[in-house]
Amino acid sequence: MTLRKIIKMPNSFLRKKASLVDKIDNDIKNVLDDMLQTMYNANGIGLAATQIGIDKRLIVMDCGLKADDENLKPNPIKMINPEITFSSKSFKEREEGCLSIPGHHAIVKRPDKVIVNYRDENFDQKELEADELLGVCIQHEIDHLNGILFIDYLSRIKKEMILKKIKKEILNENRN
Ligand code: ZN
Repeated sequence: MTLRKIIKMPNSFLRKKASLVDKIDNDIKNVLDDMLQTMYNANGIGLAATQIGIDKRLIVMDCGLKADDENLKPNPIKMINPEITFSSKSFKEREEGCLSIPGHHAIVKRPDKVIVNYRDENFDQKELEADELLGVCIQHEIDHLNGILFIDYLSRIKKEMILKKIKKEILNENRN
């Protein structure tokens, strides 16, 4: 397993729509394993292939250790070609962050519950109903595969504020 470099805003690759995976092979399995390792290493709960510069519809998640209930145990999930087939009409607000936008958080409003169709590591078709933290995580990660970031849901002013801060951070980094 290899830790991959997580690409950050404003890298334009984050705006790319990722390609469908047409078959499972060892390369895909290795990428999924690397993604989980990279995500755990960065203390994240979700990661999309786009975030490590790979143009494939792959996401990994583990909300087990940060779940809302007391039942804390690891629960790694790997999804290939995930697609939301149902979104509830009711919405919920929750604070989100992103490994590609480190240090910034904001409240995002999303459908409360989703159903996602995907293929697992054996390329078998699966369906999962998710709400709460996992529901949010799935929506956030699938957004990455479509070039969408959580800051896109914020008001123009809030989004510009974050983008300005990122620009400043990069300037400071280059100065040091
Ligand atoms: Zn993210």
